[in-house]
Amino acid sequence: MKLLVVLGAGESGVGTAILAQKKGFEVFVSDSGVVAQEYRDVLTNYDINWEEGKHSEHKILQADEVVKSPGIPESVPLVKKLRDLNISVISEIEFAGRYTKATTICVTGSNGKTTTAMLTFHVLKKAGLNVGLAGNIGASFAKQVAEEDFDYYVLELSSFQLDGMFQFKADIAMLLNITPDHLDRYDNKMQNYIDAKFRIIQNQTSADVLIYNSDDPIIQDEMGKRKVQSTCLPFSLDKELNAGAFIKNEEIITIINNQQTKMSVHDLALQGKHNQSNSMAAGIAGRVLEIRKEIIRESLSDFQNIEHRLEFVARVHGIEFINDSKATNVNSTWYALESMQNPTIWIVGGVDKGNDYSELEDLIRQKVVGIVCLGKDNKKIHNAFGNIVENMVDAGSANEAVALAYRMAEKGHSVLMSPACASFDLFENYEDRGNQFKRAVRAL
Ligand code: ADP
Repeated sequence: MKLLVVLGAGESGVGTAILAQKKGFEVFVSDSGVVAQEYRDVLTNYDINWEEGKHSEHKILQADEVVKSPGIPESVPLVKKLRDLNISVISEIEFAGRYTKATTICVTGSNGKTTTAMLTFHVLKKAGLNVGLAGNIGASFAKQVAEEDFDYYVLELSSFQLDGMFQFKADIAMLLNITPDHLDRYDNKMQNYIDAKFRIIQNQTSADVLIYNSDDPIIQDEMGKRKVQSTCLPFSLDKELNAGAFIKNEEIITIINNQQTKMSVHDLALQGKHNQSNSMAAGIAGRVLEIRKEIIRESLSDFQNIEHRLEFVARVHGIEFINDSKATNVNSTWYALESMQNPTIWIVGGVDKGNDYSELEDLIRQKVVGIVCLGKDNKKIHNAFGNIVENMVDAGSANEAVALAYRMAEKGHSVLMSPACASFDLFENYEDRGNQFKRAVRAL
């Protein structure tokens, strides 16, 4: 019996263990931290061998193969030892991909993965396809491969998942954008991060499709450097294209196999320029899968917005409140600010991942009339915008931030929480931050 070791007992690790057991491996799950109760119960119910609070090397180093959680960096000594012993270390997606023949639509990018994956899933589902949604969302891919029988999967893939993928091939790959993120995991080299993202097209041939953002300078540059075998279908907000999708006179024009589809941008469920890009990507995938034009139009217009991403919360005395707690980097906040139609009070701050705020200056001048800093250390934000926006205050909690923003705002203004930072200084995670914000707004 082959020994499969799973490092990390979270959603992806536990799913992998279930699938591996079903496929006849001896399975051992090891987590150096504490395993959540929900996953302990699953492991025990399935009678899977596991440990927590340590990594027992005598066992782990005997593995025939190791599936590593995307959260565990390469730099961990145990991973280095495995590499030295030439033991194959792969990701959950690579492992589970071996056991399904389903058509895969794989979404990556620095921002917009969840939104676009969910939107694409919605399009396929509405067309009546037997489709699962996995990757960084919901139940793990491995668990679904073990227990479901889907013909299609929409997979949201982070660069960390892609790092552990070798033989896997996406039938349809989507590359939404590449902007600096997680560079600490890539030796602070942007090229390493770009290469990780481009793994989304590895093993593709001309029978497979790459949908990519041709407005993104890094992607464009990289496409010029590489010999890409895939059939390419780009999308653009501002250039006319022969194939793929673009916007002209406020209409999305999609051209696949010389067939044209049109849809007004005003009919899209998700507003903002970035969501026009996301919608084009989802629409192209739908057409590649030969879904009817009317179904695509309908599904792009009736999609329900997802929590914490430019989520409308409420209007209080003519002041609109928007929760964009998921914006944890400057690029996603740029798009949020860009989409604001009213003078805006901006709630920003938290744990900064090396932000360069200068990119936001123009938008701040155009749109922002007040800033509420919501973080333990707000010095950098004061330095960046203190000279541009006069009205600037500090808050130590979501309640305080909402109260201060409400006081600053006038009728017809919007209050946007789009922090451009991680949330760990004052909150458990971005969901907690968004939920506290929403509660505070609803209590006004
Ligand atoms: P991810 O899964 O890649 O983190 P999400 O869909 O959760 O992306 O969105 C994260 C944040 O980025 C949200 O604040 C959202 O408004 C913003 N965003 C969504 N799509 C894009 C895009 N195409 N480009 C830039 N920002 C985006």
